[in-house]
Amino acid sequence: MATKEIEKSPFLPFHRPSIGEEEIQQVVEVLRSGWLTTGPQAKQFEAEFSEFVRAPHAVAVNSCTAALHLALAVLDLQPGDEVIVPAMTFAASAEVVCYFRARPVFCDVLPTLNLDPQDVERKITPRTRAIIVVHMAGQPANLAAIHAIAQRHHLPVIEDAAHALPAWYRGDIIGNLSDFTCFSFYATKNLTTGEGGMLTTANPEWANRARSLSLHGISRDAWKRYTEAGTWYYEILEAGYKYNLTDIQAALGRVQLRRQMELLAERKRIAERYRALLADCASIEFPAADPDAVSGWHLFVLLFRTERLRLDRNSIIEQMRASGIGTSVHFIPLHLHPFYRDKFGYTPESCPSATHYYQRNLSLPLYPGLTDAEQDRVVNALREIIQE
Ligand SMILES: *Cc1c(COP(=O)(O)O)cnc(C)c1O
Repeated sequence: MATKEIEKSPFLPFHRPSIGEEEIQQVVEVLRSGWLTTGPQAKQFEAEFSEFVRAPHAVAVNSCTAALHLALAVLDLQPGDEVIVPAMTFAASAEVVCYFRARPVFCDVLPTLNLDPQDVERKITPRTRAIIVVHMAGQPANLAAIHAIAQRHHLPVIEDAAHALPAWYRGDIIGNLSDFTCFSFYATKNLTTGEGGMLTTANPEWANRARSLSLHGISRDAWKRYTEAGTWYYEILEAGYKYNLTDIQAALGRVQLRRQMELLAERKRIAERYRALLADCASIEFPAADPDAVSGWHLFVLLFRTERLRLDRNSIIEQMRASGIGTSVHFIPLHLHPFYRDKFGYTPESCPSATHYYQRNLSLPLYPGLTDAEQDRVVNALREIIQE
């Protein structure tokens, strides 16, 4: 190998999952057990998860997208209905509305990067059927204001808590504060099963319907039909979906769930260290902190004061990559994407703050196992690029 290559630091990825020996061992045990798909592990995972987030019911599914879809299905969303969605989010939060030929109504965000309650109030119409809230980067949105609006207009609230495991609002853990809460166990999320998700609710009928819909709309406990305790007979009650979580994934999830507080402490430590290391950079600021919220620190997002820089955000990303460091952008707001622009007529001015933050946001690597030396590399590269 040439000397030059030896000296060059390896690429530092934006994310690395935190999988330990115990996760590996538990997955191997499922593989040896003779039962691979939804079964005892998934049921245990649901029970342990519902206890962790203090939600009476938890339905394990194969993605957060599926959980969001099932929440809207349980609410019987109809074509032409409208659902409030923050503009600053991932594709999943709005595409599920389109599954019903309904309309996602994008609302702008506050300096926290979370939903702006005043804009929600402005955009509610007689066709509005629900409000979807996202806890951006792990910091819970202003649920007090959003619940007050929802109550006034008799609207259910669905939390897209893909970033918010675990996170707290006014002392309560996210998971049972709204009608539905949807979690993601995607590969980069705080708890991962590779792919996976959870729907929580306090309403037993909603939970039963979501569980049935998650497995072909078959009558209760369809997964049991191949067990000793099961029976061959079942009834299809409605056209459902194939959204169940496997026992392989659930076994992984159960170990990850037990490690959540430890993993959060590590992410928080790294996030606070970033703040300290970047505190004196005049061209960098951070999303506003809400005193009512305790963040799950899923992402470390910073905002450039681009007017103080001779570079734009995209060039900074390119130069970070050239320095061997992976970064990301959360998010490209949905109202700027061709599909939503062309189908629903959104323009950059539809959600001006989201458009503004999009031009200056950057996410830095944040995950347990990121060493101080690696973090120093990230910060030094960034400071060199922005010349601060
Ligand atoms: C990751 C993510 C989702 C989708 O989660 P999946 O489990 O991949 O379906 C939804 N909303 C937000 C805000 C996300 O970041």
